[in-house]
Amino acid sequence: MLKEDANQLTSILTCKKDFPILQSKNRNKPLVYLDSASTAQKPHAVINALSHFYAHDYANIHRGIYELSERASVLYENVRVNVKRFINAKSEKEIVFLRGATEAINLIAQCYGRPQWQAGDEVIVSEMEHHSNIVPWLLLKEQIGIVLKVIPVSASGELDLDTYQTLFSARTKLVAVTHASNVLGTINPVNEMTAIAHAHSVPILIDGAQAVPHVAVDVAEIDCDFYVFSSHKMYGPSGIGVLYAKTKHLQNMPPYQGGGGMIETVSFNEVTFATIPQRFEAGTPDIAGVIAFGAALDYLTRIGMLSIYQHETSILNDAQAKLAMIPGLRMIGMAKNKVGVISFVLDHIHPHDVGTVLDHEGIAIRAGHHCAMPLMERFGLPATVRVSLGIYNNEKDIDALVEAIYLAKRLFD
Ligand code: PLP
Repeated sequence: MLKEDANQLTSILTCKKDFPILQSKNRNKPLVYLDSASTAQKPHAVINALSHFYAHDYANIHRGIYELSERASVLYENVRVNVKRFINAKSEKEIVFLRGATEAINLIAQCYGRPQWQAGDEVIVSEMEHHSNIVPWLLLKEQIGIVLKVIPVSASGELDLDTYQTLFSARTKLVAVTHASNVLGTINPVNEMTAIAHAHSVPILIDGAQAVPHVAVDVAEIDCDFYVFSSHKMYGPSGIGVLYAKTKHLQNMPPYQGGGGMIETVSFNEVTFATIPQRFEAGTPDIAGVIAFGAALDYLTRIGMLSIYQHETSILNDAQAKLAMIPGLRMIGMAKNKVGVISFVLDHIHPHDVGTVLDHEGIAIRAGHHCAMPLMERFGLPATVRVSLGIYNNEKDIDALVEAIYLAKRLFD
């Protein structure tokens, strides 16, 4: 951690000032950023870590025999230990650095599934998955003929656990579900779902992309086999992601890609692979990105995941109460247990038109299918408006949002 960042007494109520972009304008109005489920903005601590590393510590890792390279390698590997601590994994060897949650799920499909599954084997997913937890399995469907079974979503936006229990068969090889929905905000009962999968001797992959920035995640307590997430939704750089996998799985999986950094020996006849996790990290990684991701984890730790959850829940409740008062506005998915994500539609106004009006008021939200077309189909909608919260949002942001929605209604109704 940089000295000046360590001295910052960041708290959840004052952290907005740590994000330089939040002091800027959008369409010449003060920026109100309500699109953190898409990607989160970056605090000075992360931006500084990135430039400090390039200015003072930059070299390739794991290869050089000079001090600078050794220092870069230690900084990089320290982040692995940091991630291990952040999600309470047993060992840093269970942490693989990849490009994002998407790459991590593809890795599981191609390195865990493809080598050992047959045509007719089954993967259970849910109706609320992001495309990145659907398409890798559809690729396997095309490649080897696996079958997808789908846990339905109720009208309130929750998974139907009774049906979940009936989906298991002798052919079930994996459950792959999201921890929190990027459209509805629903936090799924992953501990219970893991226990159910394990009672059927089936491993479980949890897509934590929308959970890990908002709630404390403990993979030992969940007891999941795989857990994936992305740095950029956690206030860290884009292009960095994490695959957590239990050692017993990682050790038995073939590598994802071949290249430098993942081998022990190479000849023209054969290759032997490095141990885990390096076996899955071919080529020069985004070294600076990983190190700045470490700064993001330190930043979140300093604020505290409990404070983050409590603050975001209070803003979420405030937002849901205010939106519920707007005539003609319908929120989609009102689960009891949610992260700060709200999807809604407005009578007679297309979500993209709502997005355009909000944009002109300085407000950044998302409108569309949110990479969850099957969920949109479930609710019979082509698109929704999605508001998503981060640590920096406050009641003033929600008031600006509500005012701009009334403006959209006046313009279009
Ligand atoms: N899973 C969920 C639930 C998401 O919301 C997203 C991105 O929005 C992803 C996976 C994919 O993350 P990435 O694009 O960082 O790989």
